[in-house]
Amino acid sequence: MGGLGTMRVELRKSFQFEAAHRLPLLPENHKCYRLHGHSFKVHILIAGECDPVKEWLMDYAELTRLFQPIWEQLDHRYLNEVPGLENPTSEVLAKWIWDRLKPSLSLLQWVEVAETCNAACIYRGG
Ligand SMILES: [Zn+2]
Repeated sequence: MGGLGTMRVELRKSFQFEAAHRLPLLPENHKCYRLHGHSFKVHILIAGECDPVKEWLMDYAELTRLFQPIWEQLDHRYLNEVPGLENPTSEVLAKWIWDRLKPSLSLLQWVEVAETCNAACIYRGG
């Protein structure tokens, strides 16, 4: 028992939100300049050593609780109207989420934002 006490692990949790956006800094003839929407996927990764008593790193439900206020600011929104997201690229969005999550989640390693199934941005802070 307690064999996981010094075991270092990573946990990943995924969230989804629906939102509209446009990228106003692109040329007018770029498709992303036009108003459109995505089913955004957000993946967050935390890392640390397992609690020797519980033999886990953190309750996944705690990650959901910490992400909830962020999710509420994004889901079914026009992202360009959200303060800090005036130019809501995946890159800006990943940092925006990081900046709001990291203070209460020191184990956070990276935030991934995916607009589609095959395109995503990962931000690791800094
Ligand atoms: Zn887009």
